[in-house]
Amino acid sequence: MGTDLASAQQLIIAIDGPAGAGKSTVARTLAGRFGLLNLESGAMYRAFALKALRASVAVSDSARLEALALDTEIRLEPTAEGNRVILDGEDVTALLRTPEVTEAASRVSVYPPVRARMVELQQMMGAMGGVVMEGRDIGTVVFPNAEVKIFLDAAPEIRGERRYAQLGPAPTVPAEEIVRDLRERDERDRNRAESPLKAAEDAVIIDSTNLTLDEVVNEAERIVRQRLG
Ligand code: C5P
Repeated sequence: MGTDLASAQQLIIAIDGPAGAGKSTVARTLAGRFGLLNLESGAMYRAFALKALRASVAVSDSARLEALALDTEIRLEPTAEGNRVILDGEDVTALLRTPEVTEAASRVSVYPPVRARMVELQQMMGAMGGVVMEGRDIGTVVFPNAEVKIFLDAAPEIRGERRYAQLGPAPTVPAEEIVRDLRERDERDRNRAESPLKAAEDAVIIDSTNLTLDEVVNEAERIVRQRLG
């Protein structure tokens, strides 16, 4: 099966879906199994949101956000623990998971010029192939010609529960708040005019509501192998 491996090395796998559907785990595992780089596009929106917050640019100020986006360099460096995120030369990885950045990322990502800049950077990073990129618009906009497109979904309650469980043994935020925030961000992603969250026409949809993460990963691997012939 030598040809499999050769074609796998240039493969682009796009994994899209709402928050908490299991995209990160699936993307990371597939990248490991097929020897690909795992790129988390959401981390770039988070890094840009951090930059806007630091510069005191309001998340509703589209003109200033546009100017800021044009003047932004963001690079993802895949490691075994996940992506390191380099914003204008600074490693900001540890600063991107706060509630403020999460909320701001969801808001700044509705603006077309912000998306255009992120898409440009993402396309450059994936230009040589050999990547699994996860996000919301990877199969529809960033890599419409990706060899494999997977849309990972799950019921909102389940996604909220998974996110809550990730917060550790004694979360300071009530579960209902996590579910509510997640739903709000989802709605914003699905209803924005530019590149809304939706499955590409040629994506394979996996509903992970009643599946364990192992089952989801194995199903995703089966889909990739099928595409590789
Ligand atoms: O995936 P993650 O939760 O890190 O993404 C942060 C935010 O960035 C999401 O809430 C979404 O609004 C936005 N995003 C996007 N397009 C992508 C990836 C993320 O709009 N490809």
